[in-house]
Amino acid sequence: MVDLRSDTQTRPTEAMRAAMARAEVGDEQRFEDPTVLALQERVADLLGQQAAVFLPSGTMCNAIAFRLHLGSGGEEALVGQTAHPLRFEAGGPAAISGAMVRAIGPADGRFTADEVRAAAFDPLDRYAPRTRLVSVEQTTNIGGGRVWPLEQVEAVLGVAAELGLRAHLDGARLLNAVVASGVPASAYAEGFHTAWIDFSKGLGAPVGACLAGSEDLIEEAWRFKQMWGGAMRQSGILAAAALYALDHHVDRLADDHVNARLLAEGLADVPGVEVDPAAVETNIVVFGVADAAGLTAALAERDVYVGALDAQRVRAVTHLDVDLAQVERAVAAVRDVLTSP
Ligand SMILES: *Cc1c(COP(=O)(O)O)cnc(C)c1O
Repeated sequence: MVDLRSDTQTRPTEAMRAAMARAEVGDEQRFEDPTVLALQERVADLLGQQAAVFLPSGTMCNAIAFRLHLGSGGEEALVGQTAHPLRFEAGGPAAISGAMVRAIGPADGRFTADEVRAAAFDPLDRYAPRTRLVSVEQTTNIGGGRVWPLEQVEAVLGVAAELGLRAHLDGARLLNAVVASGVPASAYAEGFHTAWIDFSKGLGAPVGACLAGSEDLIEEAWRFKQMWGGAMRQSGILAAAALYALDHHVDRLADDHVNARLLAEGLADVPGVEVDPAAVETNIVVFGVADAAGLTAALAERDVYVGALDAQRVRAVTHLDVDLAQVERAVAAVRDVLTSP
């Protein structure tokens, strides 16, 4: 089987499971779990923020951050066209964070400082929702795993600061951007009020994400973690997997990026596939075909799994459990489906 549906499909390795089994644990809610405390400190340092809180998912990181920034209701967040909170959080921004969410910028998800300036409402306009937050997704998931250049992030943060907006970094795949660009995570996260990374994507852990920010914001985040049922107990067993991933699974993301590029190059040669290999910067390949659902179903019969994004676009994601031979098998399967009479 070749599973390219998502980098969430990784299974914990034997070594990761051993690290989990050895983890020292306690009650995280009482700040008595040494492994969770170590992870939180590690992520705060990595992102150059004062503090961090371990959460069950990246979705909860976004939900809590949006709630922290958009607390009073009737306020809006500006996000990229393909942002996760728009499409994959079950309307949570509206239902639990009290947020309006407005998409700006191009189809790849990377908006500019000028687009933020043009979109933000005048705070004195009492007819308009109050624009309060800008959220940057690094890398852009559905946008094709694109990396925001550091200068573009800094320009967006500059305009946000000028307009008095908060800034949030959805860093589900921030470390992919770090490995692809050589820019440190702390440089990408600098200037954001909140930023987070996911452990259950390319890093290969089974569960968890960490939201970082100022001491005050993270203290308040703990309140929502409790309110929304995200507070855990001996979660050091999960934090141990995350720490293991930070030690052993970051540099190897480069392999996933090479495999994704090779996948795109292989697909570019298949008649009926539209893809620009040069646009593949990290571990996500989005390609066009005439019938995405048909291709996805035919590939599944050949034990190759990808995801249809819409009628004519397919997403394939490389990860820890996909090697070069499997990438080659996937390309051969796509060729077989699209070129057999
Ligand atoms: C996966 C993802 C999330 C949500 O993370 P989960 O841990 O799956 O809840 C948020 N944002 C982006 C960009 C993602 O890819």
